[in-house]
Amino acid sequence: MPVTLRLGPDGATRTGTVSQGLAALAREAVEILGGDDGALLRECSRPECTQVYLDRSRGHRREWCAMKTCGNRVKAAAYRARQHAAQD
Ligand SMILES: [Zn+2]
Repeated sequence: MPVTLRLGPDGATRTGTVSQGLAALAREAVEILGGDDGALLRECSRPECTQVYLDRSRGHRREWCAMKTCGNRVKAAAYRARQHAAQD
């Protein structure tokens, strides 16, 4: 039995069980992840960051969830590390 949610004069009526509803949601999520967008799903390269994003950049070479935040932080850290190494 398909899960449906219907808004009527008596309020919302639902057919099917809650677990069926969750299963339907899970199927939808899998379709998103398995679709064209799923192939673009990336995790931010900054270790402290757990953001995921869709890489729609040309060549799919984007590394950060956002250049303004994570990209700049990682680049600044790498720059400091190089400066430090040069002094030793
Ligand atoms: Zn990030």
